Amino acid sequence: MTVKKMQKRLFGTNGVRGVVGKDLTPELVIAIGEALGSMRKGSIAVGRDTRTSGEMLMKAIKSGLLAAGCNVVDCGILPTPALQYIVKGQFDAGVMITASHNPPEYNGVKVIEPDGTEMGDEETVKLEQRIFDRSFIIEPWDKIGKETLAPALIEQYIIAITHQFPGQPGKGMAVVADPGSGPACLTTPRILTEIGCRVITINGIMDGNFPGRLPEPSEDGLKNCAALVRSSGAAFGVAHDGDADRAVFIDENGRFIEENQEFALIAQHICHHKKGVVVTPVSTGQIVEMVVKRENCSLAYTPVGSIYVARTMRLLLEQGKPIIFGGEGNGGLIFPEHQFCRDGGMTAAMMVFLLASTGKKLSELVDQLPKRAIIKDKITTKEGVKILEFLKSVHPRDILDETDGVKIFKGNTWALIRTSGTEPIVRIIIDSDTRDKGIEFYNEVKNQIDRALKE
Ligand code: MG
Repeated sequence: MTVKKMQKRLFGTNGVRGVVGKDLTPELVIAIGEALGSMRKGSIAVGRDTRTSGEMLMKAIKSGLLAAGCNVVDCGILPTPALQYIVKGQFDAGVMITASHNPPEYNGVKVIEPDGTEMGDEETVKLEQRIFDRSFIIEPWDKIGKETLAPALIEQYIIAITHQFPGQPGKGMAVVADPGSGPACLTTPRILTEIGCRVITINGIMDGNFPGRLPEPSEDGLKNCAALVRSSGAAFGVAHDGDADRAVFIDENGRFIEENQEFALIAQHICHHKKGVVVTPVSTGQIVEMVVKRENCSLAYTPVGSIYVARTMRLLLEQGKPIIFGGEGNGGLIFPEHQFCRDGGMTAAMMVFLLASTGKKLSELVDQLPKRAIIKDKITTKEGVKILEFLKSVHPRDILDETDGVKIFKGNTWALIRTSGTEPIVRIIIDSDTRDKGIEFYNEVKNQIDRALKE
């Protein structure tokens, strides 16, 4: 049993996102604050990433929350997982102003529940309804909330991670950290230094213009990071997206590690030492299932979106299942003993620990993983539902999984076809043991989609 997806109007899989001043206005953010403050009375922690619009939108969210009578604790600039860690057990809710990996002109709002997880669909639908109905509880002059500044709370997050890696496992290891001018400038170099590494930082000054690279840590964007890893002789490079809930890696030869391989590598390590269940969306590469099963552990699959992974992990844990790890195939990994959200800083520290405990080079570890070929494509169409129905009808004898879209299994190969919740797009992923087989299955699925569109 996994957490199901619900249709939302304003919030996507990762909160509200949009171009600042166009889709995402201060008026909308004030309304989100007023609505959330009316639903979650109490003490609310707020934080933001380094975007140029961050200060403006932070003031808007605070205004809405204070008007609704909440007390606001401003944690300043910090990674999303740092705010989630701070909120957990200490606040009645949290709000993060971030657009994660989106380009600089974007920003967004992410709502955090008292347990540190992102707000689930059921509560988000209620929050949206309040915004549309303008059903706010605006307090009179003598019941308006108070604001406190607490930039030092970020220390709690750094300590929580470093305490999990005692004995300085990074001693003698040089690491290149690329926070991409984002909030991890304040955390990842510190975390890595405190667990013993010698840290060389690139794009390490916070800047919402992102002068060095865009917030998405793509292979292309990390060319300078990769060159620095090679020239410095570092053990690896680690880079984050714009709010540092994701971490991606460069090996000692400057090679970008595909994120499913990264997930598989860390899953393999965790499953080797603990037995239990790994939770991940249906879109994650087969390589993860292969290494997890090889270590006699099992998987639970969820709809696509980190929130479904985190909430399913919690749900299964409450049911007594041994949940040991979770994550997505984009470098967003969840360590349940630390917290139930993706955490880039924790992932960076884990990589140090993994290399120190295996005594191997990152490239060697990656080369030992099973080989898979992944093909990704997207089609712009509003006919997503029609396409999915057609695909189900033409694959009656294949194993189908409908957790999110349609996943069609054919021997060692699968195809996942799913519609986007926010754009008129149908996404296709093919995961195969050989590239030729993958291309063959892709062509078959693509022909069927073309037929569905002609019907
Ligand atoms: Mg992110």
